[in-house]
Amino acid sequence: MRVKKKDLEIALAKVPGFKDPDASLEQYPTSAAIAADMLFNAYSNGDIEGMKVMDLGCGTGMLSLGAWMLGAGTVVGYDVDTNALAVAVECARSFGSDVVFREADVGEVDEKADTVVMNPPFGCQARRADRVFLDKAMSSADCIYSIHKAETLEFVTETATERGRRVIYNKVYKYEIPHTFSFHRDVKRTIDVVVVNIR
Ligand code: SAH
Repeated sequence: MRVKKKDLEIALAKVPGFKDPDASLEQYPTSAAIAADMLFNAYSNGDIEGMKVMDLGCGTGMLSLGAWMLGAGTVVGYDVDTNALAVAVECARSFGSDVVFREADVGEVDEKADTVVMNPPFGCQARRADRVFLDKAMSSADCIYSIHKAETLEFVTETATERGRRVIYNKVYKYEIPHTFSFHRDVKRTIDVVVVNIR
């Protein structure tokens, strides 16, 4: 085994968040704890080590770098935001990793992978922004691990079924959103998110 889950979480806690988050892009970083658990489960299922892993909406690189630490063969992260990618590139460099980050709108991504990992926009700001990510993930890879708002699990399951896919696993987590944008009324808010594995 390459790294222990706890060590993965400790290392991922060093990945910086967004410097100047953009609400319209729903820029909320995955917590190190959720990222480590999700990726470790994927690793245990044989979906990371030696595989080509693609991270759609990679932000500052949390999931990409976690996949790399778990021994992925190749990791490519895509995001539309130049500033987030600059943070990801710098962080990858400081980790000594060879993760490749590319700037593109998810709709334009034309690359295949063994496994897609993603924490896409939840579709709260732009309605159904999550559907574009799900569609792209399903047309790019046989295996997908994706984070969604727990209340949208039915929508995610239906979207997968429509494409002849199945949600074979889901796990709910508490996700703490710090006060990030002016429209946030609380210091922090906890919501339920669900990690799904689509095959
Ligand atoms: N995956 C990262 C970031 C999650 S936030 C993490 O787990 O920490 C969602 C990310 O999706 C942001 O980085 C945002 O810039 C990106 N994003 C939103 N809309 C996008 C689009 N249309 N194309 C590509 N990336 C997009």
